[in-house]
Amino acid sequence: MNFIETRGNDGIKPKEVSFSEAILNPSASFGGLYVPKELPKLEDNFIQKHLDKNYKKLAYDILKAFEIDISDEDIDNALKLYDNFDNSENPCPVVKVKEDLFVHEQYHGPTRAFKDMALQPFGSILSSIAKKRDEKYLILAATSGDTGPAALNTFKNKENIKIACMYPDGGTSDVQRLQMVCEDGDNQKVIGIKGNFDDAQTALKKLLSSQTFKKELENDGIKLSAANSVNFGRIIFQIIYHFHSYLELIRQNEIKNNEKIYLVVPSGNFGNVLGAFYAKKMGLPIEKLLVASNENNILTEWINTGVYDIRDKELILTKSPAMDILKSSNIERVMYDLFGEKRTKELFDDLASNNMFKLSENERNLLQTEFSAINSDDKYGAIKIKEFLDEGYLMDPHTATCLKAYEHLKEKDLKTVIYSTAEWTKFSPTVLNALKQNNEKYADKDALDEISKKYNAKLPANIKNLFTSKIIHKTIINKENIEEEIVKFIREN
Ligand SMILES: *Cc1c(COP(=O)(O)O)cnc(C)c1O
Repeated sequence: MNFIETRGNDGIKPKEVSFSEAILNPSASFGGLYVPKELPKLEDNFIQKHLDKNYKKLAYDILKAFEIDISDEDIDNALKLYDNFDNSENPCPVVKVKEDLFVHEQYHGPTRAFKDMALQPFGSILSSIAKKRDEKYLILAATSGDTGPAALNTFKNKENIKIACMYPDGGTSDVQRLQMVCEDGDNQKVIGIKGNFDDAQTALKKLLSSQTFKKELENDGIKLSAANSVNFGRIIFQIIYHFHSYLELIRQNEIKNNEKIYLVVPSGNFGNVLGAFYAKKMGLPIEKLLVASNENNILTEWINTGVYDIRDKELILTKSPAMDILKSSNIERVMYDLFGEKRTKELFDDLASNNMFKLSENERNLLQTEFSAINSDDKYGAIKIKEFLDEGYLMDPHTATCLKAYEHLKEKDLKTVIYSTAEWTKFSPTVLNALKQNNEKYADKDALDEISKKYNAKLPANIKNLFTSKIIHKTIINKENIEEEIVKFIREN
């Protein structure tokens, strides 16, 4: 299947591209994104057929439905990476926590956050395409803390790939930072930026569209790609696990096939919930998608009012930093799907020139038939983390934001799955603050030790080992100097 552009075609770029093209070069005309020409409709018995199949088989069949131009061998090699998760047969388990509430744990991969679900196989596929084409790629990633470690991990020492990753200095947890700065692959560069995540992401977008930067790289025979969730190569792997949620509920005798459920997704760049939106359109019986935000409530406002307005908004640094966002990239794919390319371009042109856009009433209503949204705050999250641990379930602060949606947004009495996007080990000081209901400043290491002892919670080896690892990457710079720094890195190796 081919891919087309969310803002229409500029007459320079090809009108349609293959899956490989779309993931190697993810920026489309007018600054838009690539989307599949149409979504595959899965056969009626798709769910029934997969009840006794494992995750890899489910993933394989969904990838096949998209008719992507990737060989079976490369797909198999990519899916084999789920063997590095805690349980390869079931890499993202669904756990019952209340009569009608289930947690889909997406953090059982090597870097303990949901980004591994997509980035692990994506990295493998990208590297194998690059090798086949005999092309070299620089992957740029901007991270608020979880994409960086997952992208560095998946591309580490991969042939024909170099990776440079930018993170906001001081904007990540110790664990997240160590996961990046201790990486010792010979094709990796990690750069701390003085600024917040939006600064890092804006810098990334600027680089991706910079002609001078592209020329510099071309001189060295290197092409540019991105591992952020603007890349459809990630989105496609984020469709699969929503089917898995549903299959698990049937397997656990919690629902019957065709029974509708709610999904609650803690959102930032809107990639995770976009995957759910696509799954719904492909036939998964989802009643509605419930979008959870933190104090950075831009997504809540967009869905509830139809207005996306960042004119007077400042990014707030919260205890669920992976959701700290003002400009959410993947809402564009939803808008394309609901309103078409012409209107999408118009709305994003508005956003670029006025820092806001406004949907019509009809458009807003359409959006609200698919999504409901609510935001919470750190105080609420802390209460929920404690409440759930008192009942025996330990969750991270991103997961906790989902409970507000669970409590307030359901209009029907249906089973609900909330998405747990990170393990508590990545945000242990916040979790310990919640458990003690205090505001002490804990070091990650102390909080990890205390929680794991007190609650008999398991510490994975790759988290434990971070604190004795050597720090390799020490670069911290202003965002104006990023281009220069990356060119230096390319020349060095
Ligand atoms: C990336 C991330 C999110 C947000 O996911 P999006 O796909 O960007 O909406 C939420 N929680 C955690 C822990 C994450 O790493």
